[in-house]
Amino acid sequence: MGVLGGGLAGLSLAALLAEAGHSVTVYEAGEFGGKLSRLSVGGLAFGTGPSLFTFPGVWRHYLAALNEPDSLDLQPLEGGLGLHHTPFGAVALPVPPDHPLSGEWQRYLARVGPIQAEVETLLTRPPRLNDPAFLRASARVGRVLGGHLSAESWISAQHFSPLLAHALNTHALNAGLSPKDAPALYALLPALIAAEVSRPAGGMTRLLDELLRFCRERGVTLLEQTPVIHLDAARGILKLGSGTARHDLIVSALDPARRAELSGQTSKPQARTVSGLAIYAAFAELVPLPATSIIAPSNFQTFRRAVQAQALPPDTLALVHADGRKLALLLTVPASGQALNLTQPWVRGQIERVERVLGVPNFLRKALDIQALDPVHYAALGTAGGAIYGAAYPAWRSGPFHPQPYRVSAKLWQVGTAVHPGGGIPAILGGALIVSKLIQQA
Ligand SMILES: Cc1cc2nc3c(=O)[nH]c(=O)nc-3n(C[C@H](O)[C@H](O)[C@H](O)COP(=O)(O)OP(=O)(O)OC[C@H]3O[C@@H](n4cnc5c(N)ncnc54)[C@H](O)[C@@H]3O)c2cc1C
Repeated sequence: MGVLGGGLAGLSLAALLAEAGHSVTVYEAGEFGGKLSRLSVGGLAFGTGPSLFTFPGVWRHYLAALNEPDSLDLQPLEGGLGLHHTPFGAVALPVPPDHPLSGEWQRYLARVGPIQAEVETLLTRPPRLNDPAFLRASARVGRVLGGHLSAESWISAQHFSPLLAHALNTHALNAGLSPKDAPALYALLPALIAAEVSRPAGGMTRLLDELLRFCRERGVTLLEQTPVIHLDAARGILKLGSGTARHDLIVSALDPARRAELSGQTSKPQARTVSGLAIYAAFAELVPLPATSIIAPSNFQTFRRAVQAQALPPDTLALVHADGRKLALLLTVPASGQALNLTQPWVRGQIERVERVLGVPNFLRKALDIQALDPVHYAALGTAGGAIYGAAYPAWRSGPFHPQPYRVSAKLWQVGTAVHPGGGIPAILGGALIVSKLIQQA
């Protein structure tokens, strides 16, 4: 079997297919890891891309399928999902027991917490109407969603105070979409993940190390710097820079538009999730900030209008992670593929806003070294415009209830962001479990 793309999706699937006894080759155009890569800034090692490891239960399902013990050493992230700064004040999620909003948070947990196992089921099992476990889980999650399509609509129906509502709406942006466009399921995420949000003790790149080890130990052929330049899925032929390869079955772990392009097809331009400018900075001293701070857009409608017009929003979502002498700052931007750097006035303005809100004026200027990854970087081997979470689908087409296009044609399957846009690591690992099961059953 040939797997196109050696990001987390391609590698996690390759290990499962090899475990099932198949001979597997992974073709990666650049370096393994895709969005999760290693970056050295000021002599300090950073992992780019994902920073929050959520739904550890999905990881445990994945390990069970490989008969592997858990060696990731996941550590709870100090401060959970972090301190959320909104126009109505700041609140940590999970809301601490002594906070005035603790009662509202408990009401939210009581409503959403009980469906944790069901969401895990939906993340890891093929969506099949003849599977009672899938149907039971869908029905229970559907009841909590209560017919709301968007995250904004679900949150507004709960009549939370403006501060908690704004913080929860901010989280919906994890799908890469404004709360009005993000599926309602994203409104439930803080309740489902806040208690268990974690990171491997050795940093996120440990996940990449583990997936590579699982592949190597099962005999997967791992080819780095080996771009696929043409795909003939019907005949199972991949054209590489140097020669061709033939496979009985091919799985694409690439963006679907990129995969279509490799087959010589054109695909319709699609709406996109957001992109980002990720800034990684190394300091001489410990960074005096909480582990995670989130600075919300002050107005979601203004934010949405700007992103839809592919314009830079007046004040955007910023995620700040502090870890010892390291600081990572992610500014959300539209997926327009534009080049951004630290000298541009909009970027400088957003950094000043973040520093002002966090009470550390001119902080970034003290960095020993800074590197930034912009939408041009994310677009290079990823999705059009640098969309971090792939294409944007309407709410009714997103999430676990929508039958996903796992099988593209007789010999071609797809996995990863292509089938679970907005899902992050849990959907990548769960999607690999689903696709490997479906391939075994086919
Ligand atoms: C800044 C940022 C923050 C994030 N934060 C989180 C988070 O906190 N938690 C979370 O769970 N998720 C997060 N995510 C999302 C998570 O990183 C992604 O969902 C995941 O890494 C996607 O993996 P993938 O394998 O589907 O895609 P990719 O990582 O894009 O992998 C695709 C691979 O295909 C390769 N490729 C492309 N074209 C070819 C070709 N022609 N031939 C061969 N190979 C090719 C690319 O080089 C790449 O390695 C974040 C992402 C970003 C960018």
